[in-house]
Amino acid sequence: MNTFHSTRSTDEMLTARQAIRRGLAADGGLYVSDAITEHRIDVASLVGAPYQRIAATVLGALLPDYDEAELAQCIAEAYGEQWSDPAITPLKPLGDDYVLELFNGPTSAFKDVALQMLPRLMSRTATNAKERDERIMILTATSGDTGKAALSGFADVPGTGITVFYPQGKVSPVQKLQMTTQSGSNVTVAAVRGNFDDAQSAVKAIFADHEQARRLADEHHVVLSSANSINIGRLAPQVVYYFAAYCQLVERGDVSVGDGVEFCVPTGNFGDVLAGYYAKMLGLPVKHLIVASDRNKVLFDFLTTGTYDRKRPFYQTISPSMDILVSSNLERMLYYMADRDTRLVNMMMNDLAEEYVFETPTPLLDKIRSLFGCGWADETQVREAIGSCWNDHHYVIDPHTACGYFVMQRIPRDPATPRVLLSTASPYKFPRAVSESLGLDTTGTDFTCMDTLAKATGTTAPKALRDLEWASERFDTVIDIDHMGELVSRAAAHL
Ligand SMILES: *Cc1c(COP(=O)(O)O)cnc(C)c1O
Repeated sequence: MNTFHSTRSTDEMLTARQAIRRGLAADGGLYVSDAITEHRIDVASLVGAPYQRIAATVLGALLPDYDEAELAQCIAEAYGEQWSDPAITPLKPLGDDYVLELFNGPTSAFKDVALQMLPRLMSRTATNAKERDERIMILTATSGDTGKAALSGFADVPGTGITVFYPQGKVSPVQKLQMTTQSGSNVTVAAVRGNFDDAQSAVKAIFADHEQARRLADEHHVVLSSANSINIGRLAPQVVYYFAAYCQLVERGDVSVGDGVEFCVPTGNFGDVLAGYYAKMLGLPVKHLIVASDRNKVLFDFLTTGTYDRKRPFYQTISPSMDILVSSNLERMLYYMADRDTRLVNMMMNDLAEEYVFETPTPLLDKIRSLFGCGWADETQVREAIGSCWNDHHYVIDPHTACGYFVMQRIPRDPATPRVLLSTASPYKFPRAVSESLGLDTTGTDFTCMDTLAKATGTTAPKALRDLEWASERFDTVIDIDHMGELVSRAAAHL
C-alpha cells in the first residue's frame, strides 16, 4: 500500500492517505505512485455504467488504501444532486468533434470535479489517535476559480476548515460574490491589499512558518494543508472523466473499445491534461493529448523547444485560470516520461528554482512529444474562437475553453480519430468577455450581461450564478498582506 513517494526521491514511501494529508513532499516534490502501471482498467466493463461506478473503479486503482465502502460514500456525496446533469461530465457533439462539459457542478468550473471529492478524501486521512484529534485547515490564495470551488467543497466537511484569500479588486464581480456569499460554519474569506502573487507568496510563507504551525497544533489541534492541484487527491478524481468521455463515445457507437481518441485540453497548472496521461497509463486508449495555452504560452514553448523558461512577462488575460508561468504538475509528467528517474527530475527542478529555466534531454523531449501536442491562442484569437464556435455550432464557450477550441481547429484532423475538447467553465462565469465576443451589448452589470447572453443564445445561466445578484455577502474583511497569518490563527481558534 505504501507506493507513493516524491518525484524527487524514493527515500520515504507513503500510502495514498498520507500523501493526500501532506499534499506536497518535504523535498518540494509531488507525490507519485509506481503502482499505477500495474493496473489495467477494463474499459469495456465500464461502458454503460453511471459516472459514479466509473469513479469507483478508477479511484480504487489510484488510491488503493481507501476501501470500497469508503470510496462509495465519498463518491455518492461528491457526485450527487449538486450537479445539474446526471451524467456529471456529459459529452456532446460539436461538428465533427465532441465537447466534454466539466462545468455542471456547484460553482460552474471544472475544478468542482476534483474539489467536491478532495475534502471527502481528506477528512478520511487520519490514521492514528493524534491525527484523529486534529482538524485540517485548508489555506488558499486564489485568482478567482479555485477559491470558490474549494470553499464549496470544504464547507461544513467534518474535521476541516478553509480560509481563502483573494486580491482585492482583481477578481471579477461574479467571482467575488461567489466567494463572499459562501455559507458554512468552517469557512473564512478575506480580500487582501495586493495582487495574486503577493497573496500566494504570503500563503507560502505561512506554510513555512514552523513557529505558527507549532502554536496552531498546540493550542488548537489544527494543521495547515493545501487544496492546490499538486495534491494527488485533487488529481485522481480528474482521471475519471477521461474514462467517462470514452465510455460515452462507445455508447454513441462512434468508437469501438480499443480505438484511439485525442483530447484537447485548456491548460494552466497542467493538472487537467496530466489526468489524461494517467488515464492512458491505466489503459485508456488515449492517442494524443493536446496542451492548449493562452498568451502565457510557457508550455507551448517548452513542448516545441525542450526549454522551460519562466523568465518572461506575465500577461493578465480573459482566461485568468490559465495565466500561469510555473505549471507545477508538469513535474509528475516528467517523472513518468523520464522512466521514473528521480535524479533527473531533481536536476531539472533545481535548475528551474535557481536559474528559472531548465532543459530537457532530446530523447526525453521526443518521447513527450509523441504523446503531447500543443498550441496557444492570443486574446484576439480567443474572442474570435468564441464567435466562430457560436456561428458554426450554436454552442457557447467560455474564454478558457475557447483557447482549446482555437488550438483544435488549427490541428489537422485525422478522420479515424475522434477528438474531444474539454470544456472547463460555464460561459456564464465570464458573461462580459463572452458577450463582447459575440458582438452583444455589454452596458450594465455582469448580471445584465448574463441576461443579454441568455436571450441572444437561447441558453440559461446556472441558477447559482444568476442568483448572486440578490445574495447577501457574509465576508467584507479587507486586510494587509502582513495580517494574513493573524487571520489564519483567529480562524483556527474557531474551528
Ligand atoms: C484551472 C482551470 C484551467 C486550467 O486547469 P489546470 O489543471 O490548471 O491545467 C482551465 N480552465 C479553467 C476554467 C480553470 O478553472
